[in-house]
Amino acid sequence: MTMTITDECISCGACEPECPTESISEEDLYVINPDTCVDCKGHFDEPQCVAVCPVDCIELV
Ligand code: SF4
Ligand code: SF4
Repeated sequence: MTMTITDECISCGACEPECPTESISEEDLYVINPDTCVDCKGHFDEPQCVAVCPVDCIELV
């Protein structure tokens, strides 16, 4: 399981610095690296990117 950013993303950048595994980067749009995203397990009680996203565009896939 990993997180993915949908095309609802407004590129606000809020999620990028919150990721404990530096899995979020800005390419054409913000993207999450599925190989390094750990769903914040071992770091936080809930996915930090989801917690901070103002438009709720990060989904568990
Ligand atoms: S769930 Fe956690 S580890 Fe995965 S991208 Fe979001 S902030 Fe990073
Ligand atoms: S917090 Fe949400 S809207 Fe902002 S860059 Fe991240 S995914 Fe996009």
